[in-house]
Amino acid sequence: MVRHCCAPECRETFATAGRAFARCSGCGILRYCSRPCLTRAWKHPTLPHKAVCTKLRVLRERTNLPRDRDLDPDRDRQAFFDACGADEGLTALAQDCGKHLLALIIARRNNSEVLIPDAFLPGADGYGKCSSY
Ligand SMILES: [Zn+2]
Ligand SMILES: [Zn+2]
Repeated sequence: MVRHCCAPECRETFATAGRAFARCSGCGILRYCSRPCLTRAWKHPTLPHKAVCTKLRVLRERTNLPRDRDLDPDRDRQAFFDACGADEGLTALAQDCGKHLLALIIARRNNSEVLIPDAFLPGADGYGKCSSY
């Protein structure tokens, strides 16, 4: 579950800000604490959100990940893997998005918050067909 700003250099969390952050209206997955943060993240020099926003949206729509509620690790993860496993194109898309989100985590390594939605995280068995890393 994303409970912090997804801009690479921002350290704001729901806890520090005392409120929830709005999701990007494009992908409906990553959250940003403010419009300036979204704007900075969109054009970030190494990890621009614009590079994955449409991919994330397509992935969310085609794997039926919910837009209007938090992801449920148990239910949504399995549905995500099942959808990816049934479609090579989706697997490639998931790998693309996964690499980007992993890079974002590394960029925020000093922050112990987990950045990416649970459905994108490897389970005990790894990503299976959804993963190449
Ligand atoms: Zn987006
Ligand atoms: Zn922020």
